[in-house]
Amino acid sequence: MKEMLSRALEEIKQQGNYRTIKYLQPLSSTRIRYGSEEFLNLCSNSYLSLHTHPAVLSAAKEAIDGYGAGTCSSRSVSGSIDLYEMLEGQIAHYKGYKRGLIFPNGYMANIGIISTLISEHDVIFSDELNHSSLIDAIRLSGAKKVIYKHRDAKDLERRIKKDKTKGERIVITESVFSMDGDVAPLGEIHTLKEQYGVHVFVDDAHGTGVFGEKGTGVEEMFALKGKMDVHMATFGKALGSFGAFVLSDPIVIEFLINRARTFMYTTALPPSVLAASLAALKLIEKDTSCKEALWHNIDYMRKHLHEAGFDLKESMGPIIPIVVGEDTMTLMMQEMLMRKGIFLQAIRPPTVPAGTSRLRLTMVSGFTKDDIDYAIEALIDVGRKMKLI
Ligand code: PMP
Repeated sequence: MKEMLSRALEEIKQQGNYRTIKYLQPLSSTRIRYGSEEFLNLCSNSYLSLHTHPAVLSAAKEAIDGYGAGTCSSRSVSGSIDLYEMLEGQIAHYKGYKRGLIFPNGYMANIGIISTLISEHDVIFSDELNHSSLIDAIRLSGAKKVIYKHRDAKDLERRIKKDKTKGERIVITESVFSMDGDVAPLGEIHTLKEQYGVHVFVDDAHGTGVFGEKGTGVEEMFALKGKMDVHMATFGKALGSFGAFVLSDPIVIEFLINRARTFMYTTALPPSVLAASLAALKLIEKDTSCKEALWHNIDYMRKHLHEAGFDLKESMGPIIPIVVGEDTMTLMMQEMLMRKGIFLQAIRPPTVPAGTSRLRLTMVSGFTKDDIDYAIEALIDVGRKMKLI
């Protein structure tokens, strides 16, 4: 066994895909310490910088005092503290759905929801760049899987028309693709839903808090708020906390409570986490200033990278991919940026398809103009040296 593992690890190393963990010390919403040095963190998903917001922190601290450090029981036993009820109600209302249910995290939510609601009698149409948690969930469901071209509603329609499966037909897509930062054609997908009676599952992990006038997510941007069959998103990104939720009709939620194994057989989230999510949600519901600051930063960064000649593909919003291609070259760029005090990680296969290794930068509201100017200068310098621009 050990020999086999070390051979496999050697192969991973040779492919330039070996991963090590970097242990960090967060210093502020935008700075981290790694080793003895300080870095600008250009790869956090805390788009609204809420993970360090005073109101979020004090809500978490108060919850510890009032409820303790952990729930120490599953949701179905004694873990469903009242903060769950408040948060499930509030998030459903915010996103325009009838009912919500919180899962421990997005990975477990996707696994639980999809494998519980969909069976081997059904067919799933899945975007070719869907997140690994969706891919694993689809596998576990046992359904027939039909992969359609990335964000290509015409290809999806062709495949829907061609498929002869008798059971349910479900389209599964991310709203904002996590490694590419581009947005699914939700308008066209919704039209296909009406035209062919397919169901739609949307993972809005990276859209929540960021897209739409009120920031409720990508559905709002398409004027389709609350219109999908099953909507899933997370608290661990723009909301600055941890956990995930599913929104749908009450009957779907009831079924998940009774059957979703990743909901049933795990300890409920700590009170501090729920209280932090609740505080973050309250903040963004009443005040869109963090979202406005974020978009100001996004526009500024994107404009300068475009002008410098970087190809940002079809991305929009806070996730900005700089596709390099080769794994080792991407790692070199990562190292060069680290030497300039910029923390940015190379994203390599199997997270992204082979030959598309990239730097995935993320914008957050907490960056100052000086931070972004510094990052732009460093990226341009490294991009030129690597002949990427
Ligand atoms: N869906 C998408 C699109 C994601 O990007 C992620 C994680 N980055 C998840 C689901 C999983 O969420 P979590 O980190 O809460 O497990």
